[in-house]
Amino acid sequence: MLRDDHDRDQDAAPAFRLDVHLHEQLTQPADARSVLPPARGPVSLPEPVFPRHPELLGDDGIDYEACARDAVEGHRRWTAAQVGRAMQGWALPYLKSRLLPGDFHPLITYLFTEWKCNLDCDYCWAYDNHVKGMTEEVARRSIDWLRGTTGRVLALMGGEVLLRPAFAHKVIDYATQRGFWVYLPTNGRLLRPDTIDRLADAGVATVNLAVDAVDVRPGLPKALAPIRANVDYLIRRQYRYGYTVFLNMCITRANLDDVRQLTEIAHEHGIATDYHIVESPLTEQPHYHKLQDNGLFIRPEDFAAVDGLIDWLIDRQRDGYRMANSIERLAQMKAFMRGGLEAWNCRAGQNSLIVRTDGTLAPCFPMYSSTHDWGTIEQPRIDGPALAAMKTQCQPHCFSTLNHILAFAYNDARVIRWIARQARAGFQGIRGNFE
Ligand code: SF4
Repeated sequence: MLRDDHDRDQDAAPAFRLDVHLHEQLTQPADARSVLPPARGPVSLPEPVFPRHPELLGDDGIDYEACARDAVEGHRRWTAAQVGRAMQGWALPYLKSRLLPGDFHPLITYLFTEWKCNLDCDYCWAYDNHVKGMTEEVARRSIDWLRGTTGRVLALMGGEVLLRPAFAHKVIDYATQRGFWVYLPTNGRLLRPDTIDRLADAGVATVNLAVDAVDVRPGLPKALAPIRANVDYLIRRQYRYGYTVFLNMCITRANLDDVRQLTEIAHEHGIATDYHIVESPLTEQPHYHKLQDNGLFIRPEDFAAVDGLIDWLIDRQRDGYRMANSIERLAQMKAFMRGGLEAWNCRAGQNSLIVRTDGTLAPCFPMYSSTHDWGTIEQPRIDGPALAAMKTQCQPHCFSTLNHILAFAYNDARVIRWIARQARAGFQGIRGNFE
């Protein structure tokens, strides 16, 4: 829920949204987290080769207009190597996770290379500019450790991941050379053409561009206007290098029309969209000072207008607009903002994981600031029964997009239907979500 039972004042946002008892368990100073032991191997990342694909650096031999037309019509073509990379990243690890004994088989890991950001969105508590970024040693050890697990999807995460573009290039290059399918989220402000070419050359698989407004608005600096030229370059170069681009929006009480406009812009350019609904912090965030008088968190008087936007998005998806969220998932946003979400088979800590900048682990992004000890890379300490008990209480308050998608995917009938649909299309572009 967006407003909480702990707080009887309609206009005051709660400091946290979990049950008080669970919140105490997760934020007990006595439960100090483990510390990553000193390295026994290399403490830096190798310098990436650039260009690995000199033939892709230029513009010759590609008809961008035709590629864009195909994308808009949903007919983008993929090479066998690109299909193979997606299979290696997603399908094989998924199968292994179903067949191997035990419950800890991460498919996707969020590697928090940064906890600093260059912007300051009023709803966002997911950064603290006092925290140093991940070191090369921790990044390297994380990837090496993950290679020993089922997981082959690595999502760089922040803060803003491109605060150190050269570091991001090294991490992506190291991970792709070891068989990882790499996801890069960014607010786009530092995504310059040279950076795009370097990250694409290193093999980034998808770029998730977080944009909440067309023009910069009060409290919503993640806007398309300041980054438009670079976004156009990013969209064009995807056909050269074979990555994909998503537009990722956070629905707040202040940007409902912007979300409609951005959805239309994405559709016109043949790129998919992904929606979140604004959430105040699940656990207390002492470094976040914008909880009160916040003009972005949704209030009961906004429900009808937000419902209207969600219905509009569902209609657009039925019209063929490509969206990461299923129709069912979009519709659940209505229940969530009213505090009526049911348990939903969260897979965090089992099939997804986060690695903080210091190499410590947590099951999920909402638990980033928890002091509970889930261990470190190389020495995870995830206790299955305790995790399951925790989820009985946090699920009704949580709208984690990734973990909802994973929950949806851990249903064999659904996955078989989805793979059959992709196979019928010759694995050429994703046909629909896990509906
Ligand atoms: S429901 Fe899952 S993703 Fe959400 S806070 Fe709980 S463990 Fe984390």
